[in-house]
Amino acid sequence: MSINEVCSVFGIWGHPDAARMTYYGLHSLQHRGQEGAGIVVTDGERLKGIKGDGLVNDVFDEKKLDSLKGNGAIGHVRYTGKSGIENIQPLLFHSSSGSLALSHSGNLINANDLKHQLEMQGSIFQTNTDTEVLAHLIKRSGYLATKDKVKNALSMVKGAYALIMMTENELIIAQDPNGLRPLSIGKVGDAYCVASETCAYDLIGAEYIRDVEPGELIIINDDGIHEERFSLSGSNAMCTMEYVYFSRPDSDIRGINIHTARKKLGKQLAIEANIEGDVVTGVPDSSISSAIGFAETAGIPYELGLIKNRYVGRTFIKPTQELREQGVKMKLSPVRRVVEGKRVIMVDDSIVRGTTSRRIVRMLKEAGATEVHVCISSPPMTNPCFYGIDVSTHEELIASNHSVEEIREIIGADSLTFLSVEGMMKVIGKDDLGKNCGQCMACFTGEYPTEIFPDTPLPYEKEMK
Ligand code: SF4
Repeated sequence: MSINEVCSVFGIWGHPDAARMTYYGLHSLQHRGQEGAGIVVTDGERLKGIKGDGLVNDVFDEKKLDSLKGNGAIGHVRYTGKSGIENIQPLLFHSSSGSLALSHSGNLINANDLKHQLEMQGSIFQTNTDTEVLAHLIKRSGYLATKDKVKNALSMVKGAYALIMMTENELIIAQDPNGLRPLSIGKVGDAYCVASETCAYDLIGAEYIRDVEPGELIIINDDGIHEERFSLSGSNAMCTMEYVYFSRPDSDIRGINIHTARKKLGKQLAIEANIEGDVVTGVPDSSISSAIGFAETAGIPYELGLIKNRYVGRTFIKPTQELREQGVKMKLSPVRRVVEGKRVIMVDDSIVRGTTSRRIVRMLKEAGATEVHVCISSPPMTNPCFYGIDVSTHEELIASNHSVEEIREIIGADSLTFLSVEGMMKVIGKDDLGKNCGQCMACFTGEYPTEIFPDTPLPYEKEMK
C-alpha cells in the first residue's frame, strides 16, 4: 500500500447533462487522485471549464454544475506531488483555429526533450505538466483535420497515456501503443462515455462496451463513433499494479475483475507462503480481497483485524517521514479483540518504503498479537515507475537495497513472504477467456516496456525544468 496513481480521466458525448454525468463519473474515480478535479464542457460553440484543488465534492456544487451546459464533457481527477491550479486538468487552450481540452492519465517520458525543442521554436508554456507538451504538438501540426493533428503529435510522444481530448464538436480518445493505463468505452442511452475504470459506468447507469486498444484512436461526435489506429506496434503491457492496488475491486480490466484477480493473488500467495496462523487479516481497503483468497486457501479464518478511518486522506500525500508515520496512526486502527493472543497473518498488496508496514506490525503487536506474519500479494518492488505512478526512486524503495530478511527485520515481522513474479503472472497474465494478455511488471523486474530517457521525469518530479 501507500503508492499513488497519478490521475484518472472521464469523458462523455451526446448527453444533455454531460457535466453532471462527468461529475458522477469522477466521483467513482476519486480513489485515483484526490488533489484536484476539473470538468470542461462544450455546447457545440465554445468550451468552458471549472477546476480546483481537492476532492470532486470540494470543487463542484449544484450551481457550478448548472453553469456547465452542453452535450459533451471531459473530466479529470489528479494526484501529483506538485500543486498549482494551472496544473489541474482538463487543460483548456483557446486559439483562432478553435479550442482544445485535454485530460491525461499517465506520464510522457520524453516530455522534457520535447518541451525543450518546442521552447527553442518559440513555444511558451503555461503549466508544468507533460500534457501541455502534447497540446503544443497538436496545435503546431501542419495538418488540417484534428484527427491528423493528433496522430502526428502522438507519433512524437513516448510513454504512458490514456487520453481524452475535446474540441467544440468532438471527443478524441487515444491509448498509448503499450496500453499501460486502463481506458474503456461505455454507453448510456445514446451517449458514449469513456473512463479510466469501468466502476464509473455503474454510477451513471452506463453499459461497458469494450476496452480501448493499445495504439487506438477513437473519434466520437454527433455522427457516431469512428475507430482507427495511430500506431500498429501495440504490445499490451497493462500496468500490473492496476490489478494489485490501484483499481477499484468492482472494476474490470481486459476482462478480468479486480476483486477476483486480487482474491486469486491471495490464493497463490497462501500456496507460496505455506505458513501457520490463527487469523488472516487484510490491510484495508486494497488488500481485503487478497486476504480473503489467502484465508480460503490456507483454511484459516479471515477476520477484520484492522479498521480504516475513512475520513483521513491517503497517507503519502503527507511529505515527511514523521508526518507519514502520524498519518498511518490516524488512518488505521487494530481490532484488539480480534488480534489479541493470536498469530496474525497480515496480507498487504505491496511494500514501498517499509514505513507503513512497520507501523502496522507494531500496531498489531501493541494490540496483543503474539506473532505477525506479513504476506505481500506482489513481488518485491525494486525499480521506479516512469509511467504515471508515484513509486519513488531506487533509494526510497526498500526492496531495492535490502534482502527480504533485512526487510522483515526492519518492519519487525515474525516472517515476510512476497508473491513470486511467476505466481503473479500465473494469476493475472491471462484474461477471463484464458488468453495471454501482456503486463508491465517493470517495477518488479526492471524490464520496461518502452525505452527510458536519461531525463525521464518521475511522476512526482513532473514539474519540468
Ligand atoms: S512499472 Fe510498475 S507501477 Fe509502473 S506501469 Fe509498470 S507495473 Fe505499473
